[in-house]
Amino acid sequence: MEIKAIRGFNDILPDEIGKWQFVEDTAREVFEGFGFSEIRIPIIERTELFSRGIGEVTDIVEKEMYTFTDKSGNSLTLRPEATASIARAYIEHQLYTFDPVAKLYCIGPMFRYEKPQKGRYRQFYQIDAEVFGVENPMVDAEIILMLIHFLKKVGLEKLELQINSLGCRACRPRYREELKNFLTKRSFQLCEDCQRRLHTNPLRIFDCKVETCQEAIADAPRVVDYICDECHKHFNKVKEYLGMAGLTFILNPRMVRGLDYYTRTAFEVVSYQLGAQNAVTGGGRYDNLFQEIGGLDVPGIGFAIGMERLISLLPKEKEFFRYPHLFVAALSEEAYREAYQLVNQLHLQGIRTELDYEGKSLKSQMRRANKLKARYVLILGEEELKRGRAALRNMEDKSQEEIPISDILNVIKGKVKGV
Ligand SMILES: [Zn+2]
Ligand SMILES: [Zn+2]
Repeated sequence: MEIKAIRGFNDILPDEIGKWQFVEDTAREVFEGFGFSEIRIPIIERTELFSRGIGEVTDIVEKEMYTFTDKSGNSLTLRPEATASIARAYIEHQLYTFDPVAKLYCIGPMFRYEKPQKGRYRQFYQIDAEVFGVENPMVDAEIILMLIHFLKKVGLEKLELQINSLGCRACRPRYREELKNFLTKRSFQLCEDCQRRLHTNPLRIFDCKVETCQEAIADAPRVVDYICDECHKHFNKVKEYLGMAGLTFILNPRMVRGLDYYTRTAFEVVSYQLGAQNAVTGGGRYDNLFQEIGGLDVPGIGFAIGMERLISLLPKEKEFFRYPHLFVAALSEEAYREAYQLVNQLHLQGIRTELDYEGKSLKSQMRRANKLKARYVLILGEEELKRGRAALRNMEDKSQEEIPISDILNVIKGKVKGV
């Protein structure tokens, strides 16, 4: 019986990997330039980290976590997101003793037990960035600027930044009550899940996809109308700093974000690139998360980008696959010895070189070079070899020249520079 991958788990094959590497390299370059450092955290954590950090009454914790008991009887969970783990690491290793401000990013797989759909997997990849230890709204604008700069740099266009304020521990309960009262009068319109959410976490009803729920909440009170003076001041400063950074934005009062730990600034970036509206990424401030998982009073803000979505929006015309710079075709026993030496030297110099391993005819070797889309083919023929020369063919314009074997390394290096 053929063994196949588990449902919802996906291979990323060589013809796709160029896009992934490009996105990851660009993220590293941009984030490091903004003063962020990479952190790598375990894929498995104790379940309570997520139930306390993300919140018991969220879809993630209630339905979507990959939780299992290990041989020692511990309840463990494959990480459904990165923020809680990064915060745990910050507390555990007391990163704040070196400097209270930590700017961290993380790239890797996350796991959620969702219904697999096209382009949505149970193992999916995220790029996360977090700033811990700064309450100043300046950093809210700074991290948003970094995010937009990154998205533009990978080639995304027609981006729209949406922002909202979700209030804080002091003012959100009042809004929650107001929303609850409003929706209680319409509870007959709500789906079964939302009937329950009405009592546990009414803000989550904004995220429900059921049409009647959307109708029920359409003219609900807006959280920005209920935030306290401190939250108001903070939000106004965020807007001011975004303006100073040259960023335009729109206010989206319905954006409340799915996770319990968000406070104050929430943001999303939407792309209108493919005609339709696509939420590319979102994030926000979470000044209560640290108290939930470690009893520390540390403010935080961050975002997560779903890589599958991002990659589907990359410009179609851009070439990501790395073709061989050179294919070496050898036509005799002696030529194969020469080819072997040459290919080794080129590989050591980082020049992508391919050769034939099976002693095939020139025609068949050329066919393979063509299929692999090699930029050049070096033909080592018996006659030419005796004269210390070889033929170099440009596969794009089909021109051919003879070069001395002693010069090959230099000639090829010169030609493929920048390819
Ligand atoms: Zn407040
Ligand atoms: Zn609903």
